[in-house]
Amino acid sequence: MKAKFYESTKPNKANNMKEEKEICNECGVSVKFGSGHFVNRVPDLNDPETRLEMGKPFPNGEWICSKCDNENTFQLSEESAEPSITISDLCKIWNELYGENFKNEYRGVYKRITKTI
Ligand SMILES: [Zn+2]
Repeated sequence: MKAKFYESTKPNKANNMKEEKEICNECGVSVKFGSGHFVNRVPDLNDPETRLEMGKPFPNGEWICSKCDNENTFQLSEESAEPSITISDLCKIWNELYGENFKNEYRGVYKRITKTI
């Protein structure tokens, strides 16, 4: 009884803030122990203000759940998997844009590019 009484006299605001920190700041799901998202949760090292600036829907959340983290990782790996532009891509784009044969028109540049790519 005594412990319960003590609990209830704690300021509610502080309690709520503590609760809200153990959520995913992307989707708001609880990442507390036993929530099913505890194991793969990833800490977000930004402060709430930064998260707010980043447009996070739940800036109080100090965590990102595995689902949202996977989505982020997926986006990143997709970007990095994008092949870098090759000289033949450039020639093709150039031809489409300007109707010129890049290789013939810009022979000097072409040689330099093929050396740097
Ligand atoms: Zn999430």
